[in-house]
Amino acid sequence: MALILDHVTYEYGGGTELTVRALNDVSLVIPDGQFIGLIGHTGSGKSTLVQHLNGLLAPTSGHIYYNGEDIHDKDFSKKKLRSKVGLVFQYPEHQLFETDVFTDVCFGPKNLGLDKKEVQLRAFWALKQVGLPDDCFYQPPFDLSGGQKRRAAIAGVLAMKPEVLILDEPTAGLDPKGRDEILDLVASLKEENGMTVVLVSHSMDDVAEYVDRIVVMNKGSVCFDDVPKQVFGHKEELESMGLSVPQVTDIMHALKKAGWQSVDTTVTTLEEAKKEILKQLHKREE
Ligand code: ADP
Ligand code: MG
Repeated sequence: MALILDHVTYEYGGGTELTVRALNDVSLVIPDGQFIGLIGHTGSGKSTLVQHLNGLLAPTSGHIYYNGEDIHDKDFSKKKLRSKVGLVFQYPEHQLFETDVFTDVCFGPKNLGLDKKEVQLRAFWALKQVGLPDDCFYQPPFDLSGGQKRRAAIAGVLAMKPEVLILDEPTAGLDPKGRDEILDLVASLKEENGMTVVLVSHSMDDVAEYVDRIVVMNKGSVCFDDVPKQVFGHKEELESMGLSVPQVTDIMHALKKAGWQSVDTTVTTLEEAKKEILKQLHKREE
């Protein structure tokens, strides 16, 4: 089954002089189990798009289907949708509001109407999954570090056992170590729970190592939708949209420019780059 956007257009401030068209005729199929990177410059419409996937925003025109049903049909349960399609917001501060982390993580499963014991079991499970240390459980969410706040926000969504996990810029504001920890966490959650994952970022380096597919947004439209290697082949176009290819891909392009005519410029991971450079060096020795 899948989540489908069918010709979705969205305008903020509809009907006024201040109308902003944030999504322009976007069609996308998100099949079960895929790991998707949704990439675009600031203002390209990423957050607007993901808020459509769990019904927080309704399209100005077009439709969204979850497992074949239109999510804006009047007898479709939005509450159920939000438990199946979990969205971790761009700013964890917008999501964490209870007096302590544990109560916060209980909020979602409690809202699903589960009994108290099940709610607490789910909260403990989710907090363990995201690797928050026990001594954080009963602290106010605002006392946590940036990376820990992200983990708490992810736990709050995970506790509902969603089928689709959407993370809006989960690495924003983190240092490189915090960034890698969160990305590794997302990859391991995906691996263990078999969920569909949509990871929103403005950095190709965030997604190059992990995702099956990259969807690139520019000015409210999807401009590339392909496997990472194919997308990174469009270096110039990406740069004109304020995006860059991963650093390793950039290095391969620089090597080509410097005279390594046959170097593979579709390399996207460190491991591939290492192999390719060694291959080229051996060739030169022959
Ligand atoms: P991204 O997440 O890629 O940075 P957004 O979806 O936040 O992009 O924004 C897309 C466009 O919609 C931008 O032009 C932004 O200024 C505009 N926008 C976002 N939120 C609002 C809002 N609440 N009211 C009016 N315009 C908005
Ligand atoms: Mg955003």
